[in-house]
Amino acid sequence: MSKDLKIKIVIIFFVLLMAFLIFNKFHTKHETESNTELKTQAVFEEINQFNTAKIDKYIVYGTHLNLDGNINLPKISDISIYSVHIVAKNIEQKIELLDCTYSYKDGILTFSTADKINKGLNLENLEESNYYLFLKVIFSNSEERYYSFENTSKYTNTTYYTMSKRNKIDIKFDTFSGTKFLGLFVSEIDELPNNVYDIAIDASHGGKDTGATYKKYTEADLVLRYAKNLKKKLEDKGYKVFLSRDGSENPNQDLSDMYAENGRINTIQESHSKLMLSLNLNSANSKTGGVEIYAPTNCDLNFAKSLADNIVKKAKSSYSSVKLFKQDDGVYVRNFKDYDILNFKASAILHKYEPYTITKQTPYQYMIREVGGIATNAFVDGRNTSYGKNKYFDSNVGIEAYILELGYMKTPKDLNNILKNEDLYVQAIVDAIETYATAK
Ligand SMILES: [Zn+2]
Repeated sequence: MSKDLKIKIVIIFFVLLMAFLIFNKFHTKHETESNTELKTQAVFEEINQFNTAKIDKYIVYGTHLNLDGNINLPKISDISIYSVHIVAKNIEQKIELLDCTYSYKDGILTFSTADKINKGLNLENLEESNYYLFLKVIFSNSEERYYSFENTSKYTNTTYYTMSKRNKIDIKFDTFSGTKFLGLFVSEIDELPNNVYDIAIDASHGGKDTGATYKKYTEADLVLRYAKNLKKKLEDKGYKVFLSRDGSENPNQDLSDMYAENGRINTIQESHSKLMLSLNLNSANSKTGGVEIYAPTNCDLNFAKSLADNIVKKAKSSYSSVKLFKQDDGVYVRNFKDYDILNFKASAILHKYEPYTITKQTPYQYMIREVGGIATNAFVDGRNTSYGKNKYFDSNVGIEAYILELGYMKTPKDLNNILKNEDLYVQAIVDAIETYATAK
């Protein structure tokens, strides 16, 4: 064989080998694609093709997805509804089942995933997979029916980033072979996008606002110390933490406009955090002092309770003796009272603007209310006409927000403890967050 021929044979061999490899790769890829397609088809198999449930409100608050909706289900003779659930089924046919609260009237079934704003479908617990959400209705004759969802809310698709592991979840309304659906597409990521954080820590006051003062101490300085320490300890655990201020602000700066471009409400909202803890010290006089955790209205209080308990046990603190707004030892929920609502209206009339829709279900504290989006009834604060506008008041993605009154500045027992046992307080808070973020 000539040398030329040998080279030709070798080249032809390599070309054939490459062609085979490319074909093979394409073929396997094609096969996995059609495999996923088949698996997805299987998920949709039991779905009622003639009727869909309408989602008229969906909220991502903290770590949970909440759905409110309705479906037209004409009554059939004496058959009644036995139970209503939301099912999240992934393509491996693994199912998450959620009980719904519901009511049935005039052929319309109205349902909601949770009675508390921080409950519903826990997005932290989903595995890397594609989930499809359906309404499962069980009738009194034991018949089960599944309905897919269509979006009739004004909110569009959104993306959620988990805080306990690095997952990205696309919350997406779409169609599959002509069937409208709500899907949760979970994929692993290496790193959070630049503008996305897990937890926001608000060091309250700052700039020319010192907050409570006692002797040479100011609330603004003390909570900043705590906030930085907390940030560090949470980062050591792998969380990405946003600080509302880091002490670099000018001491004459006025930070009171929460809704300014770089104000607290907007910057915290833009951090896309799941949790927000606002650190404060109480300025009131108290013989006994102690810790007070303020939680949102209509909220499951387990996390607030765990914050209070941890601080009391691990930081040698005590529960506040304050009775007003108290829900449990160390746990408080402050809503608007009738006199607050009257004051708001009077102020609106005085300053010639529309009074906001405030009910006794609206959280009183602005940090809790305003970073919570529609879940907490956020609105443009009417108490001060020099304030700007909360750009996020109508957002269906809200941050689960708490106010931590760590102790009373003028109560020697509390102040000494806060000065001496900073690490214990901070560790107590970190422990509560860890438990909450990884809860099933
Ligand atoms: Zn304060």
